[in-house]
Amino acid sequence: MAPPRDCAPLAERVEELLAAGGPLPIVAAGQPVLRRGTVPYDGQLGPALLARFVEALRVTMHAAPGVGLAAPQVGVPLRIAVLEDPAPVPEEVAAARGRVPQPFRVLVNPVYEPAGGARAAFFEGCLSVPGWQAVVARHAEVRLRAEDEHGRPLDEVFTGWPARIVQHETDHLDGTLYLDRAELRSLPTNEAVAALWNEPAPRRAAEALGFELP
Ligand code: ZN
Repeated sequence: MAPPRDCAPLAERVEELLAAGGPLPIVAAGQPVLRRGTVPYDGQLGPALLARFVEALRVTMHAAPGVGLAAPQVGVPLRIAVLEDPAPVPEEVAAARGRVPQPFRVLVNPVYEPAGGARAAFFEGCLSVPGWQAVVARHAEVRLRAEDEHGRPLDEVFTGWPARIVQHETDHLDGTLYLDRAELRSLPTNEAVAALWNEPAPRRAAEALGFELP
């Protein structure tokens, strides 16, 4: 996508954001920064400011709490995201969703492609769309190419829940929200998920709400 029209120097904007300290405000759906796409990271922040920005993303993700956060979600149109998932869920949920713990990692300039044709559908949510969840069918396995925060290349296959996180966060960097890919007939509030659809997989929800699973 075209780079953002706003041309305030990114480093200046990030310095301003970090000045307040603590978790950063999370941008909600409806803000253009979530839809415009991002520019590749090319040293715009310099190593010291990049390290501070990544730390702020980590703190913000933990505080939310969430398992991933992309730079546009704090208003910064750079191709950077972070993820970390301690996977604090019951064993049957972890098994059904392939939810294995993921250490903290930084994805700089990530791109993914499907690895194999399998798809998996589960409820997911987004810190920029608070209060709601929806079932999204995604590639069960993806090959991710990126760099880490030190510029070291990363080329890795992700499966299960980590594959879902990687797709969700990388999509943010292209201006795509999970709702663009969601089965909208599944859309419940967080309260409805807790009351009705708190299960390892959305099979009953698909039947009751009338949508297809892959
Ligand atoms: Zn999100």
